[in-house]
Amino acid sequence: ATSARVPDADHEGKGVIHVVHLYPREMSIYGDLGNTRAIAARIRRHGYVPVVHQHHPGGEFPEQAHLILGGGGQDSGQVRVEDDLERIADRLRSMADAGTPMLMICGMYQLFGNAFITVEGKRLPGLGILDVTTQGNAKRMIGPVVLSTDFGDVVGYENHSGSTTLGDGQAPFGTVRAGQGNNGTDRTEGARTGNVIGSYLHGPILPANPALADALIGYAAKLATGRPFEPVPQDDGLADEARTRQVRRLVKR
Ligand code: GLN
Repeated sequence: ATSARVPDADHEGKGVIHVVHLYPREMSIYGDLGNTRAIAARIRRHGYVPVVHQHHPGGEFPEQAHLILGGGGQDSGQVRVEDDLERIADRLRSMADAGTPMLMICGMYQLFGNAFITVEGKRLPGLGILDVTTQGNAKRMIGPVVLSTDFGDVVGYENHSGSTTLGDGQAPFGTVRAGQGNNGTDRTEGARTGNVIGSYLHGPILPANPALADALIGYAAKLATGRPFEPVPQDDGLADEARTRQVRRLVKR
């Protein structure tokens, strides 16, 4: 992993939060890198110190990890990270069990499920952290999305060929108010188990939806410091305005 400098004790603020971005080269399309940038900036504004680690295939997984982010990618990018994901699978599974917050978008969401079968019929096994299965289709699902979630209305943009089905008892991340979501038919979008969230929403999702960003930071802060999250009020006026506009434009009353 390539890592930012770890701060010394005098500059730790309320605590140091280690963020790991999985496969930023292979899996980071449609601006998903923006999630890592937004979370680091927001951690800092809340008075904590972010340390961002980039995990690349073949690299050593960071010793400390309080928040894991993964983005979307083409089917070919997913093939390139498969072996490494298998290598770090046990670590990711035990961190998920321990309550480590994780946000996996699109291609990485698919790989956190049981399997992704590409449109050509190639089966990519997943981690099984989320009980979902994805089948690639010739027809892509593309466009702006509005969801209703535990974190309020969430807006974003989807572009995927994979059609995802939730296993029995698997909670979705949200309910589709506009757009296609997991499969275009059952109005579910993404999946959530504990603090692990998978979603198709690019945008990137975190700058557009600060409540979701703060929820992830809150879980990570508690994990990193052993104390409850101590947030600082933020000015989210721009994001709130843009989100309200997207909801009004897309959701029919
Ligand atoms: N290759 C996957 C699909 O099309 C993921 C695409 C993405 O990450 N945007 O379903």
